[in-house]
Amino acid sequence: LDASVTYSRVMLKISGEALMGDQGFGLHPPTVQRIAQEVKSVHDLGVEICMVIGGGNIFRGLAGSAQGMERTTADYMGMLATVMNALAMQSALEQLGVFTRVISAIPMDQVCEPYIRRRAVRHLEKKRVCIFAAGTGNPYFTTDTAATLRANEMACQAIFKGTKVDGVYDKDPKKHADAKRYETVSYDECLARHLGVMDASAIALARDNNLPIIVFSLDEPGGFRGILRGEGTYTRVT
Ligand code: UDP
Repeated sequence: LDASVTYSRVMLKISGEALMGDQGFGLHPPTVQRIAQEVKSVHDLGVEICMVIGGGNIFRGLAGSAQGMERTTADYMGMLATVMNALAMQSALEQLGVFTRVISAIPMDQVCEPYIRRRAVRHLEKKRVCIFAAGTGNPYFTTDTAATLRANEMACQAIFKGTKVDGVYDKDPKKHADAKRYETVSYDECLARHLGVMDASAIALARDNNLPIIVFSLDEPGGFRGILRGEGTYTRVT
């Protein structure tokens, strides 16, 4: 492990939308490749990396149910969307020479591995990036909760939530010039003030297990690596 790094095992959570670039839908390969490069640069420091990628660039359960689809069916479609994103990220990482495993909460053996906790831990010890797909495997949850759950199970030291802004603000910084970024903020304040870090169940699960959430900008080149070395701006939720 590089001496400049204070974390040896981390969870990186990104939304599905982070992979769609400037398009309104789906996967934008150059963007997937850019994010894979960011992950590689952290992997090169010797950090063990777990990833959860959302599915919102392809399908969201709530959107499906708003259009009349049965909610649980729509949620399963959302979970399947995360598997596609995970496979895209796997492909991009392996092209950069980073070994990976896609591990699905819903077994689909021809496509990827089923989730077996001890096996996933072993992959991490062997420095393979573990991309956890299909969310928690349950409808009515989100991939933020899946990321928090797997981060706890894998004993990650923190969740890094990559977003479009460099932290948590008191109001939307893209709309309000006087928005202020928090250096640190408590889980309870995020919940009480609906700060939009993650959904409430994910924040509560992180709080109850003392898992710090670090919100940072994924748009900043080198941002993920920088934050692991204590550089750059971000918000720490504890
Ligand atoms: N989903 C689910 N259970 C889970 C995780 C995800 O049912 O444990 C479904 C849900 O329908 C959700 C969709 O998968 O809308 C995509 O995940 P999410 O909305 O979290 O993706 P993101 O917003 O991060 O792109």
